[in-house]
Amino acid sequence: MGKPTGFMEYERELPADRSPLERVKDWQEFHEHFAKAKLQQQGARCMDCGIPFCHTGQLISGMASGCPINNLIPEWNDLVYRGLWKEALHRLHKTNNFPEFTGRVCPAPCEGSCVLGLNELPVTIKTIECAIIDNGFAQGWVTPEPPEKRTGKKVAVVGSGPAGLACAAQLNRAGHWVTVYERADRSGGLLMYGIPNMKLDKSIVQRRLDVMAEEGVKFVTNTAVGVDISAAKLKQEFDAVVLCSGATKPRDLPIPGRELKAIHFAMEFLHANTKSLLDSEHRNGHYISAKDKHVIVIGGGDTGTDCVGTAMRHGCKTLTQLEILPRPPDTRQPDNPWPEWPKVYNLDYGQEEAKARFGADPRIYLTTGDKFVGDENGHVKELHIYDVEWTRDEKGGFIPKRVPGTDRVLPADLVLLAMGFLGPEDTVLAQLGVERDPRSNAKAEYGQFSTNVPGIFAAGDCRRGQSLVVWAINEGRGAARECDRYLMGSTDLP
Ligand SMILES: Cc1cc2nc3c(=O)[nH]c(=O)nc-3n(C[C@H](O)[C@H](O)[C@H](O)COP(=O)(O)OP(=O)(O)OC[C@H]3O[C@@H](n4cnc5c(N)ncnc54)[C@H](O)[C@@H]3O)c2cc1C
Ligand code: SF4
Repeated sequence: MGKPTGFMEYERELPADRSPLERVKDWQEFHEHFAKAKLQQQGARCMDCGIPFCHTGQLISGMASGCPINNLIPEWNDLVYRGLWKEALHRLHKTNNFPEFTGRVCPAPCEGSCVLGLNELPVTIKTIECAIIDNGFAQGWVTPEPPEKRTGKKVAVVGSGPAGLACAAQLNRAGHWVTVYERADRSGGLLMYGIPNMKLDKSIVQRRLDVMAEEGVKFVTNTAVGVDISAAKLKQEFDAVVLCSGATKPRDLPIPGRELKAIHFAMEFLHANTKSLLDSEHRNGHYISAKDKHVIVIGGGDTGTDCVGTAMRHGCKTLTQLEILPRPPDTRQPDNPWPEWPKVYNLDYGQEEAKARFGADPRIYLTTGDKFVGDENGHVKELHIYDVEWTRDEKGGFIPKRVPGTDRVLPADLVLLAMGFLGPEDTVLAQLGVERDPRSNAKAEYGQFSTNVPGIFAAGDCRRGQSLVVWAINEGRGAARECDRYLMGSTDLP
């Protein structure tokens, strides 16, 4: 695929991101785009490797290796190289309902397993994916495609994140009437109110929602299932229900002083920020501002990075990010070989911005909080921290152990807890009588997606625990297939 000698002729190139110090002045996306000719050249680097690990989507050592939705990567690389953009779009849509989301926010496990990556830099798969769909919209090739026939069956999807949207799109394609319930005021789940605008512009999310609505999907917002409409009523009114309600319970940090003011879960901060931005370009002031504050983000993952990027745009005074795990190595280690997901150090966009402004990566590794201390008004003013080392307990598991003599104090006006999520909320699952797995997620076998209650399916983060957009799309599509089979006795959905 691509040009047989392309990988020897061309270097990997990515469009430069906007400069960190410039982009923190606004909320626009920070990625720039390549001209088509440049992308064709990059597509030419795909080298007909024979076994394209990039589209296998296997789990190795618990991490995705290759594309979890099995995108037909070598095929569309070749089509782009040959300038056949419409055909590339067609191939891409065969496996991915929303390439405009993954092309922006996916960590690209495909590139970690690209065969060229064995001894060269991998093909720029994600950038090419994004360009194919952006070009498709620009050319007017992405148009609503309602089903030709309706089955008369009705399906309710609870939650409008990528799992719910992929599920709804597929079930609608099969001819069922689909209603998506969302408790927030806008649909999109974490695509809308989790991932900030500078990483995924909300007009891109809305554009896809509009296409789906024109295809016949009904979106009902401001409606919490289990509260505004009982789960039992939903079950009664619909032929099947698919739960795609996410893993929204945040992990807390129960240390002394946790009750002080200005200590927030990351999602309170991120959700309010995007809502205020969309409602009024922040003029209504209905968000938690980091302006002129000493900000501490606890947690070094994607959510923490988004808090860093958001606080930078507010104009924080200082920024510190605590991570309890060690700093990853700069290059792959022997126990993390290709085609595994490379666990290497990465300066993500938020940290890059903090480094440009304050001179260093804001992350402090192998560190955790000891206690918060407040002022006379009950407002946090300090975080006491200490270093940890990871040792094995008597059962052989790793535990963090305090390193004596490393205690120190950080000034803190705003603390954001971004330490991951503990599974789905209880209300809907309890009302429907859906069993949980040992990690408290909805119990439904991967590939089947059916719960213990006939006609109730579960997909995405509420089934697998907090994960990635691309896995949510994978699961939404799979749950739609199984739901269609349940409703019709057989299915043509992939
Ligand atoms: C801040 C943040 C940044 C992230 N960044 C990335 C990234 O860059 N790349 C990546 O691949 N992944 C990222 N992730 C992970 C990714 O967003 C999730 O894995 C993905 O969105 C899960 O999709 P989902 O559809 O299962 O759930 P969600 O996107 O969580 O959607 C669930 C929806 O269900 C709604 N809901 C819940 N209960 C009810 C109810 N009772 N009634 C009605 N509605 C309900 C919720 O309001 C929510 O909108 C990030 C996650 C977070 C928190
Ligand atoms: S969805 Fe993610 S893993 Fe799949 S091709 Fe796109 S960037 Fe790669």
